[in-house]
This record gives sequence, C-alpha cells and structure tokens, in this order.
Amino acid sequence: MRIANQGGRAVLLGQRKALDVATASEGRFGPDPMSVYRAWAAFRDWAATVDVDAAPAAQPVEVAGLDAPVPAPEQVFAIGLNYADHAKETGMALPEHPLVFTKFPSSLTGPESTVRLSGDRVDWEAELVVVVGDGGRDLPASWDAVAGLTVGQDLSDRTVQNRGDRPQFGLGKSFAGYGPTGPAVVTIDELRDGHDLDALRIGCRVSEDGGEERVLQDGTTADLVFSVPELVHRLSAVVELRPGDLIFTGTPSGVGLGRTPQEFLKPGQVLTTEIEGLGTIRQAFTA
Ligand code: ZN
Repeated sequence: MRIANQGGRAVLLGQRKALDVATASEGRFGPDPMSVYRAWAAFRDWAATVDVDAAPAAQPVEVAGLDAPVPAPEQVFAIGLNYADHAKETGMALPEHPLVFTKFPSSLTGPESTVRLSGDRVDWEAELVVVVGDGGRDLPASWDAVAGLTVGQDLSDRTVQNRGDRPQFGLGKSFAGYGPTGPAVVTIDELRDGHDLDALRIGCRVSEDGGEERVLQDGTTADLVFSVPELVHRLSAVVELRPGDLIFTGTPSGVGLGRTPQEFLKPGQVLTTEIEGLGTIRQAFTA
C-alpha cells in the first residue's frame, strides 16, 4: 500500500485516487498521518483489506497537492558517507560505524515544493528514507521494523555544514524546506512485489528554467555500506526507535561538492529526485 498526507490527513493512494483513512475506517485510524504508525500492525492489517480505486469515497489526487507523508516524526536520523563512491568523492575514509546526525523535523516538506537557497553552496543528496513502524530497542537486522520507504532529498548548505574546526551537519541540513520527502510511504510488502528491496535505483537530475534535464546522481541502494536492516539494528542498539521515525540513509556519488569544478544549486533550477518503485519528488529553487 501507499500512504500519503493530503491536507494534514492520512490517505491511502490507489492508481489515480486517494481514500481518506479516517473516513474509510470510520474513525478507527487517522486522520493525523502520524497516528497510523503508532498503531502500525493494526493499521497495516486493516489497509490490506481496502481497494482504494473501487471505494466510492475515493477522490482523484495530484502529487502536487500532497504534503510530507510523515510530517512530524519524533526523531529524524540521517546517515553520512553510506555509499563507498560518495565517501571517496568527499575524500573521507569509509566509516567503521554508521556516521549519524539529525535533520531537524521542521525542515521536512512535501514532494513538490519551492525552496529558498540559504547561500551559494547548497548541494543535493538523493536519499532513500526509511519510515519506522512499531519501533523499539535492540531490534534485529531485518526489515520487520520498517513500515515503508519514501524518497527524500538531504539538501545541504556546505558552508554551514563545514564551518568551524568541527563540522556540525545538523544545522546546514535543516534550513526551511531542506528535507523534502514523498510522494508516499510505500510499504515493504508492496515494494517487494516487483522490486529488489536491496537494489533500488536511486538518483536525481536538474533542469535550468524549464530546459532539458541533466543527470546528477544515478546509483543503486545495493551499494549502501550499512544496509537498511543493519541501520535499524545499529541505531536501535543505542536509541529507541519510535513509530514514524525517519532514517535518511545516505547518498550515492555525484553530489556537487565532489565535482570538478564544484557545482551547487542555483535559483531557477528544478531538481527531480527519483527512486525505483517509490516515485519522484521535485524542488524548485529561488534566491
Ligand atoms: Zn545525506
């Protein structure tokens, strides 16, 4: 199933339609998009019985009208240097343990948005984003704790991220709109049907003022240094994972910082980020 957020209400997405969760479940789940993760097992079982496109109450839906599918997680983890090629392009050694930082939740936005650039060194990072289901501590390395996956961009102001003699990732990655996500949370069972969960194609491309698109990143999650199950295991060995928490799992090679010459986002550009089986998100940039 695909779970999205329309106007602050949880909806299930069909082929072309959305069904309001609170209405369809007669108040058992929703409308708060976060509430479905707090009742994950029961919600998943109920949603599996629903045929969205056949439901009389289902309404036509446009991606542009959707908000962040998981708008207010308690915790947002992000993982640095989690693809070998990306670690190499930044000149850093591969981490022995996951390099963990946070994007503050107020940076989260929906799949289609306009983002004001905070400076002239703002970079792109296409990322697979994990949505935690039941959560807990000391979880095994498996997909069981994962409710679903979505597309994210870990937009990064490299000046702020790297200023001072000790980098502080969180602030430079948490400006307004620097955490676009969506268009929906795709559950693991749905994605498994037709895709290899451990090798999803991931990338992003840019266009200038409506011109032709140029590929910036084109990778596969098969190259993750710490896989999704491994991240769940290692994070939960220290921190309790809560229902609806997000994990930005890192970015493949091709970021602007690693290019010769270096390249950063400019006003007027549009960035499209896509992951196989999950869909696309699109951000336009202004000064
Ligand atoms: Zn990142």
